[in-house]
Amino acid sequence: MKKLGIVVCVLTLVVGCQRDVYRFTEGGVYGTTYHVSYRSDTDYDAEIRQEMERVNQSLSMFNKNSVISKWNRGESDQVDSLFIAMYTKAKEVNQVTGGAFDITVAPLVNVWGFGFKNEKLPSAEKVDSLLRYVGMDKVQLDGDRVIKQVEGIQMDASSIAKGQGVDLVAEFFDRNGVHDYMIEIGGEVRVRGESNKQRPWHIGIDKPIDDATAANRELQLVLALREGALATSGNYRRFYVVDGKKYSHTINPKTGYPVQQDILGASVYAPTCMEADAYATAFMVLGTKEAKRIVEENPHIDACFIYQNEQGEREVWISDRLKTLIYEE
Ligand code: ADP
Ligand code: MG
Repeated sequence: MKKLGIVVCVLTLVVGCQRDVYRFTEGGVYGTTYHVSYRSDTDYDAEIRQEMERVNQSLSMFNKNSVISKWNRGESDQVDSLFIAMYTKAKEVNQVTGGAFDITVAPLVNVWGFGFKNEKLPSAEKVDSLLRYVGMDKVQLDGDRVIKQVEGIQMDASSIAKGQGVDLVAEFFDRNGVHDYMIEIGGEVRVRGESNKQRPWHIGIDKPIDDATAANRELQLVLALREGALATSGNYRRFYVVDGKKYSHTINPKTGYPVQQDILGASVYAPTCMEADAYATAFMVLGTKEAKRIVEENPHIDACFIYQNEQGEREVWISDRLKTLIYEE
């Protein structure tokens, strides 16, 4: 009996110790970097990479063999489960935002992107002519097929796929009994539980400073989070300058032009990172006034907007629930 007692004791000690191990892994994915911290007695670094890689197979615009690339070329209208999850969420955010979020902007993204690279912007006629390929009402999901109602429609999942990658890792952890984690890919984050400091995860929101290299970072505020995802869109880091004029990489699907709104940075806090990522992009299109209305009407969405008021001064708006999550030293 005594012996068993000792064995149990030692076992508890070993298991207890192992459960306290926080692991950290980092690397490059989707043209950016990732950092993941998690508390587990098992090393899941390879599985984490595998989960992220699934998005590349399905939704990468750079992978010629991805499901979305084949769909865009019109080779197949059949899609996989990741595509369907992305599409369904994109459709929902498209409806809630009155069309501001729209993944069928792909032809416009291409023509503007090409223009930026060559310092030759598209003509008004060219932009107008592409609008007939834009609109999520021109595509329909039917079982595992997505049907184009207008030949030539293409999709660009860049604004939501990174968030989906974060969610896949989170879901992997949830399935495998990992209850404390922080997953970050290119600034989009999802957390659960506590950090190795035995407190909620501290997640910073950057001050929008025009700086494409991200060499100078200053924090606007820090959140203390035990659950949920935070994604940020901002034209202060990714923009193009042609003839001294600044262009954003977010496009207004209604006009076909890069957005010029008052928001410098939009951070969205939501249950999933896919959702946070999509809304952050949509809010850049909508501007502060409309974006605030959507946040206030959708209780599961919170946000922090850093914007320029009519006097050209910088202001910060934070939704009520998010204010309660601000960490103050
Ligand atoms: P950010 O971090 O600024 O949100 P994302 O990568 O999440 O950047 O989203 C921007 C990308 O989304 C663009 O590069 C383009 O591919 C695509 N995009 C541009 N405008 C829209 C839009 N209105 N709706 C959905 N996707 C868009
Ligand atoms: Mg986004």
